[in-house]
Amino acid sequence: MKKSRLAAALMSALFLLPIASGCNENAEKHSTRELFAMDTVMSLSAYGERCEEATLAAEEEIKRLDALLSTGSSDSETGRINSGETVTMSDDTASLFSRSVEIYEMTGGAYDMSLYPLTVLWGFCGDNPAVPDEESIKKTMLLCGSDKIKSDGSTLTLSEGQGIDFGGIAKGYTSSRIMEIFKSFGCSGGIVSLGGNVQCFGTKPDGSLWRCGIADPSSPDDGMAGLLTLTDRSVITSGGYQRYFEEGNVRYHHIIDPSTGHPANSGLSSVTVISGDAALADGLSTACFVMGKEKSLALRRASDDKFELVLISDDGEITITKGLKDCFSSDREYSVAEG
Ligand code: AMP
Ligand code: MG
Repeated sequence: MKKSRLAAALMSALFLLPIASGCNENAEKHSTRELFAMDTVMSLSAYGERCEEATLAAEEEIKRLDALLSTGSSDSETGRINSGETVTMSDDTASLFSRSVEIYEMTGGAYDMSLYPLTVLWGFCGDNPAVPDEESIKKTMLLCGSDKIKSDGSTLTLSEGQGIDFGGIAKGYTSSRIMEIFKSFGCSGGIVSLGGNVQCFGTKPDGSLWRCGIADPSSPDDGMAGLLTLTDRSVITSGGYQRYFEEGNVRYHHIIDPSTGHPANSGLSSVTVISGDAALADGLSTACFVMGKEKSLALRRASDDKFELVLISDDGEITITKGLKDCFSSDREYSVAEG
């Protein structure tokens, strides 16, 4: 994998340094914590009397979900499902499964938890990813499709060769769990960045909102394409720069287009989804990256303001949706989509 852990750490620092600076003016207690989980660097930050306990409990929750959902471990619940065992789903898996079906239907299949066999074929789960032959891709595509996975709501059994992967939704689900934990400890505000996917609530001690950078896809480790100032929202980005390999001078990234079996090539280099519903934002960031600009904007128009978008095209053009007009800023030109 070309994207190194150091790069991921730098990216995380980029997002959290401006957030952590200038805090504690009103001497409110502040706790920060950094960890590596779900294959990414995560930063947690909370304010309030019991913030230390809150960030510790959040770290434990992240580790629990990582162990439950990891596709790399045959002992995890996802690993057991993928090995063909009939599994009684935990509440978390049942919830992720039903949200995944919902987003699959909403996006016409662009978000598809059942693409795991393709992810394995391309080698994105291992250390030696490579372009597979077209015949293998076509054969593997026959195993995919969330509509082929049946569950009675409590147990799940996959057929031979099928596999699921909640990687396109898991970080959003996890960040919303962390927000619940922070609130249960009475925190006045908090923000988390799970590999650049951000969720926040409340305010900083001085009453100001959180600032959240959107990476510049052409220079993701040190450049920002824009800044959002907001609260009570998740800000979740999918980009072709996040995880990829190169072969014959071509870059192959980790987001698969279910209709081709190849890395998506929709003309977008990153999609950021802003929503109060982080699992939805995460699933949609992956789906919109596959769907491209026009279909993503049409989905947004049909979705009753449930989410907003920042779309960056391969040629660097930035488009935002109208609900972001007052909270988005950039030193580059950008346009606001109609409707
Ligand atoms: P994200 O970074 O949220 O866009 O999620 C990307 C991850 O989701 C990949 O690493 C795969 O594990 C998985 N994935 C890839 N393509 C898709 C897709 N079209 N639908 C759902 N999950 C996907
Ligand atoms: Mg996603």
